[in-house]
Amino acid sequence: MKIAVLNSGSSSLKFKIFDMDTKELISSKNVEHIGELNSAFQTHHEAIKSLGIDFSLLDGIAHRVVHGGDTFSKATLIDEKVINAIKTIIPLAPLHNPANLEGILVCQKKAPNTPQIAVFDTAFHSSIPKEAFLYALPLEMYEKHKIRRYGFHGSSHAYVSKKAAEILEKDLNKLNLITLHLGNGASACAIEKGKSIDTSMGFTPLEGLVMGSRCGDIDPAIVIYMQRELGMSADEVDALLNKKSGLLGICGNNDVRSLLDSADEKAKLALEMMIRRIKKYVGGYMALLGRVDAIVFTGGIGEHSTYVRERVLESALFKDIKSLVIETDEELEIAMECIEALENK
Ligand code: ADP
Repeated sequence: MKIAVLNSGSSSLKFKIFDMDTKELISSKNVEHIGELNSAFQTHHEAIKSLGIDFSLLDGIAHRVVHGGDTFSKATLIDEKVINAIKTIIPLAPLHNPANLEGILVCQKKAPNTPQIAVFDTAFHSSIPKEAFLYALPLEMYEKHKIRRYGFHGSSHAYVSKKAAEILEKDLNKLNLITLHLGNGASACAIEKGKSIDTSMGFTPLEGLVMGSRCGDIDPAIVIYMQRELGMSADEVDALLNKKSGLLGICGNNDVRSLLDSADEKAKLALEMMIRRIKKYVGGYMALLGRVDAIVFTGGIGEHSTYVRERVLESALFKDIKSLVIETDEELEIAMECIEALENK
């Protein structure tokens, strides 16, 4: 079976085609700068057309959709109802879901007879129990306004947890893991018997670890202070927390590879802050899980930086726990989830 995975962002498209009998990547194409001034592609439709894909050869097209809200707990065959449901979730992911939808609509036009499947970044975390996904706000904030922890990077946490089970030669549904996706965006996940029971990203991907340019956990009163006392608008605070904070905010650089080589005090401070936060999450998740079979590192930093891994694990608390480094493959996971959805349809 040939499955295409489309990751359609606001100004970029990533398209990969897998032969799912062998799980081999057959082709991979990217388009960037869609809709930008002087770009050859002003629309997603033009960009997809330029890829020259023969859609008739595909058995399914899997679309990465960032936010599934609390509507979608697994990969889902797309029909009119699903499209409308994804539209209603737009306020929860105003930057991502519209671009994901755009990709779906263009592919539906190009390949009307090919099944299209939505695979949600949040779905893996749908097993998180209520006491973990609720914020301690008036309950109606959840019941009326759907404000809760959703969690992201689901395909990555799911993929590395399956790989960890293969490496450890154990059933995933008997394994307790802490998975650490450490890339520019970063999140930790506590996995009990193969299922996510807590994760560091929350209502949006802003919460949790110190990331490349996102602050992660802060006192929410800071946001109020910035608006009330510093006269910043909501959009300015949004940009500051998402794009100007994290490692970038502390030392002006979010490339961990170059921070590791730097003698600059601010670069060292930024790394210390990042590592300290990861340790706090790992320790907290150990307390939740009780027994931990392995701590799994993935993402650009997790896969490549021995220093960061060793520093995270230096606590005596973690010394008897196996650690694994597993290269993530979110697109292959999305293709595998697409196959499952096709088989169940
Ligand atoms: P994204 O979240 O954008 O997909 P990646 O998972 O590619 O990001 O991770 C990017 C981060 O990984 C950057 O901070 C980069 O510096 C870091 N990184 C990549 N290679 C190395 C390396 N060899 N050592 C340390 N950090 C690395």
